[in-house]
Amino acid sequence: MTQNKKLFYSHLAQTSANPMELEIERAEGIYLYDHTGKKYIDLISGISVNNLGHRHPAIIKAVHEQLEKYMHVMCYGEFIQSPQVQLAAMLSENLPQNLDSVYLVNSGSEAVEGALKLAKRFTGRTEIITFKNAYHGSTHGALSAGGNEELKNQFRPLLPEVKILEFNHIEGIANITKKTACVIIEPIQGEAGVRIPSAEFMKALRQKCTETSSLLIFDEIQTGFGRTGKLWGFEHFDVVPDIITLAKSMGGGMPIGAFISSKKIMETLTYDPVLGHITTFGGHPVSCAAAIANLKYLTERKIYQRVQDKEKLFLAHLNHPEIKKIRSKGFLIAVEFESEKFNQNVIKKCLEKGLITDWFLFAPDCLRIAPPLIIEEEEIIKSCEIILHSIDECNNS
Ligand code: PMP
Repeated sequence: MTQNKKLFYSHLAQTSANPMELEIERAEGIYLYDHTGKKYIDLISGISVNNLGHRHPAIIKAVHEQLEKYMHVMCYGEFIQSPQVQLAAMLSENLPQNLDSVYLVNSGSEAVEGALKLAKRFTGRTEIITFKNAYHGSTHGALSAGGNEELKNQFRPLLPEVKILEFNHIEGIANITKKTACVIIEPIQGEAGVRIPSAEFMKALRQKCTETSSLLIFDEIQTGFGRTGKLWGFEHFDVVPDIITLAKSMGGGMPIGAFISSKKIMETLTYDPVLGHITTFGGHPVSCAAAIANLKYLTERKIYQRVQDKEKLFLAHLNHPEIKKIRSKGFLIAVEFESEKFNQNVIKKCLEKGLITDWFLFAPDCLRIAPPLIIEEEEIIKSCEIILHSIDECNNS
């Protein structure tokens, strides 16, 4: 056992009994290298984070340049820091007109916390509506808004007045009333194993929220920044939210998140109480500089426009009798097997062969494919070959 592995088990808090245990030495593009020099294709992008690949030169340059100027100088919201304001402006320019006020935070869960508080503060209501198998984060508020009982029930009491509706069921929308502060939804559910709602459902949801003056929150933490083949997941449905939450890929590998709404809604966090939502590190200048470089690169090169063609290549090559179904939107792909056990075995075999895949939190029988958007055709074909060989080996063992 290496010294680092010993320390990992003795001193690093563990999240499960079966960590992947890869000892990382360095990362570049779509590849990771372990301590023995073994090379892996990263087919999950650190869970939908490294959309431009690892250590993209544009991100590294931006980080270096900002490090030469300043790092943390003051809690969020007091000083005028160029990386924060430039990023906020750039995000607004790339979102619908009503999403023009950006609150910068450190993570996805925090973005969701902020969005929920904002909805309660603006509407003066307390009810939160969410959907079955939704995942919005692990902090108390974000967990309360989650849609999986098993993950929640050891941590109760959580937030009261949370209603969980069936995802993509139009009839359920009638539960949204004038008591509802907000409805929070992933435009495409990630951890549920890539569940795609109908445009009809999304439009009905928007309409009902407008009728009841409830705020519609789109959690684009996993679907944002080109992951689904468009810059934002909601563009697939022609529906605009009142609040959007972002994180994961936002900083090109640096930690940052945001909740974004209209100036009118966001203004309610400014007074009564003053400092009603504050953060020390939110909008860290180095993370903001990375996020600017990330968004600039994505929008100028429009690399997400090639994602749907590359997705087709995955679908064309992933043919095997053991694959029951594939659900996908761009580079958020769930390959469903007969059982969780079979899936775990395939994941293990893939890892042995230098390919990193994973499962989904609420769909353990599904193999996760969410590669960096920059992956090239031959790398996709090679990845598919490894997956198919791994399935064959699992069948024969
Ligand atoms: N929302 C969604 C849709 C997510 O996928 C995640 C993370 N998997 C989160 C929120 C929470 O983000 P974080 O882990 O940065 O707190």
